[in-house]
Amino acid sequence: MNKKDKKYYLELLNREKERIFKNLGYLKEGIGSGEKGIPTHIADYGTDEFEKGLDINLSDEERKILEKIDIAIEKLDKNTYGICESCGKKISSSRLKALPYARYCINCQRDKEKGGR
Ligand SMILES: [Zn+2]
Repeated sequence: MNKKDKKYYLELLNREKERIFKNLGYLKEGIGSGEKGIPTHIADYGTDEFEKGLDINLSDEERKILEKIDIAIEKLDKNTYGICESCGKKISSSRLKALPYARYCINCQRDKEKGGR
């Protein structure tokens, strides 16, 4: 993977991260206005405050994705990004573009979903 690719995927990962944070604020607002107008002021928070509140506000699903994103960013650093953790083959670029924090190639992912338990 060359420098340009790395930069590209790093951007994708960061954008995905941002999307989750934004989603979080958006969902809060949605609940607030839909129900009895409980005021939420996430947008007014400084980033520090916002990050501190994350532990409480993140759903399990979001937390998992953020973890995966961090792992993926680490892998970019160590030059192991884009390699399937299960079979060691390259993950296709189309898969990475759709799911930049994917840990497995499409075949291994399918195997896991099929016979996973
Ligand atoms: Zn694989």
